[in-house]
Amino acid sequence: MATDLAAYAKKNNVKYFMISYTDLFGGQRAKLVPAQAIAEMQENGAGFAGFATHLDLTPAHPDMLAVPDPSAVIQLPWQRDVAWVAANCVMDGKSLAQAPRNVLARLIDEAAKEGLHVKTGIEAEFFLLSADGSRISDEFDTAAKPCYDQQAVMRRYDVVREICDYMLEMGWEPYQNDHEDANGQFEMNWAFDDAMATADKHSFFKFMTKSVAEKHGYRATFMPKPIEGLTGNGCHAHISVWDAAGDKARKNVFAAKEKSAGPTGELGLSEQGKHFLGGIMKHASALAAITNPTVNSYKRINAPRTMSGATWAPNSVTWTGNNRTHMVRVPGPGRFELRLPDGAANPYLLQAVIIAAGLDGIRSKADPGKRYDIDMYAEGHKVRGAPKLPLNMLDALREFDKDTSLKQAMGAEFSAAYLKLKHQEWNSFVSHFSRWERDHTLDI
Ligand code: ADP
Ligand code: MG
Ligand code: MG
Repeated sequence: MATDLAAYAKKNNVKYFMISYTDLFGGQRAKLVPAQAIAEMQENGAGFAGFATHLDLTPAHPDMLAVPDPSAVIQLPWQRDVAWVAANCVMDGKSLAQAPRNVLARLIDEAAKEGLHVKTGIEAEFFLLSADGSRISDEFDTAAKPCYDQQAVMRRYDVVREICDYMLEMGWEPYQNDHEDANGQFEMNWAFDDAMATADKHSFFKFMTKSVAEKHGYRATFMPKPIEGLTGNGCHAHISVWDAAGDKARKNVFAAKEKSAGPTGELGLSEQGKHFLGGIMKHASALAAITNPTVNSYKRINAPRTMSGATWAPNSVTWTGNNRTHMVRVPGPGRFELRLPDGAANPYLLQAVIIAAGLDGIRSKADPGKRYDIDMYAEGHKVRGAPKLPLNMLDALREFDKDTSLKQAMGAEFSAAYLKLKHQEWNSFVSHFSRWERDHTLDI
């Protein structure tokens, strides 16, 4: 549905548009454009110096234009004179290949050509910290097992309710909010949607949660492991594939027909569902470079047991039924949950890499391999032949670099740009002197 943004501004009393795009590191960049100027910007885009953000451009490149996608406009529920609109990056009259929203759009088109329409729901966990980020905002939130703590969730009711009210108002169909497994950690859930809609909502959710937290004097963080010893911020993705996008979707392609029990109907996943899952399993170590994109991400996966008793994060490339100790859980018929991604995942690249790996799985009829219905935290050592997930960002980047078909599927320009910038980031990290190395080396 194309919207004339100037008319939208008049109708909704919007004074400014926030034309927003997401760079390769997940940074959200925007220009505030007065409504009077939006008609021209809707046509030609807002100009940015791409080099100033993480897009692998040089200072000599021409202006990058962020062209608003009018179907993705949202009036800020907490600042009604402003409307946020997701934009697509264009340079020299062409779509900028490595820009995350463009990468996702291309993969959605590719899947659609094969009659596959991916729908996903994500669970973007976050912590509420003090404004300076140094500690949990609630000094009384100290329980050893704080998950679903009703007292603690009510102490942050003002923040949680405000965000949930906004989701209700925006029609996202939120259905539950809770205190999560770490002190200071929360989760809010809304209904699944087409991959691009989920990516835009994910992106907006982060913006909204941070904004509302700031308004209340706190700081929201999606950092994968903000506090040592506590459960980290996951961003699980629930995935299914349908016969059409939007409201036209009727048939869940992943749901096995009732009678097809046996090898094709295992846990209620159709043959195509299993092949898609097979693609995720096959590319898991490589796609971790996207789903777990930071140095800190690797403090969440493969982590020692947390204070609450479990990390709830995976350590190996395994799948199972309704059991939360594996990388993939099949909670019910017709969908599966990828538990690998964390709060640092770029909303667009997360969806893109799921589609890229899944499509490859369907095309190559990939087999997800043996299912292990065991407690991976207690019995993981018994599993032979399931790869361990990468131990750090460099290993993940190397796995991604080796996976030529995944790199190809994500786009050659994107993959080269991403690897280059992420290797630079890794080099910056390893050249940083740490307290640990001094403590362990001084008296050697
Ligand atoms: P859990 O904590 O058990 O993993 P949540 O209820 O927190 O699950 O989140 C489940 C997410 O999965 C929600 O976003 C929900 O809309 C989504 N979901 C449910 N069914 C499907 C489906 N068929 N395809 C994709 N996502 C789905
Ligand atoms: Mg959940
Ligand atoms: Mg989950």
